[in-house]
Amino acid sequence: MFLKADSQLPISGSIKSRGGIYEVLKFAEHIAMTRSDLTYLDDYRILASEKYRKIFANYGVIVASTGNLALSVGIAAAKFGFKTTVYMSHDARQWKKDKLRANGVEVKEFDTDFSDVIPKAREDAGKDPNIHFVDDEGSSDLFLGYAVAAVRLQKQLKDNGILVDKDHQVVVYLPAGVGGSPSGVAFGLKMIIGPYIHAVFL
Ligand SMILES: *Cc1c(COP(=O)(O)O)cnc(C)c1O
Repeated sequence: MFLKADSQLPISGSIKSRGGIYEVLKFAEHIAMTRSDLTYLDDYRILASEKYRKIFANYGVIVASTGNLALSVGIAAAKFGFKTTVYMSHDARQWKKDKLRANGVEVKEFDTDFSDVIPKAREDAGKDPNIHFVDDEGSSDLFLGYAVAAVRLQKQLKDNGILVDKDHQVVVYLPAGVGGSPSGVAFGLKMIIGPYIHAVFL
């Protein structure tokens, strides 16, 4: 039995650091390629420069979350200089709201359940073509960001001398909420490690 401690990932202290930061990076790359001459083989550290901050300031990122997705998307997007707004339901923890605000993120609080907050955020983001909505219920970028966990796990299994084949099958237990993160990880496991690794959602 092994525990993969995504709670120790930087920025959000959760699996949301995988999908959320990937989606923000990909959006920044897309804007940089359409608004400047960035190419795939350039040193992407240039995206942290003043030149790009000025470009990114014309764009916004919106996400709806009770906490962990907000931390990963919010902190990463604000760091690039995107106008970043997080829609949170009443059950979000105070320290998460405080941390986001301290990082330059606008936090909008709603007195309803999380499931009501997502459509509201999606609607507001849809009004402005310069705003990117990180959609916890339907984003393929989030999904693919989570899937990269399988690339890491493949190496960790090898380093621990764990062979995965017909006679040595591996079961992975994944906590599920909306379902995006465990689905992305399960997709990655099947693509990269193959048919003898099995995902169980809890
Ligand atoms: C988001 C999250 C989950 C579940 O992910 P979903 O994509 O909502 O299914 C499980 N554990 C933690 C700590 C999370 O942040």
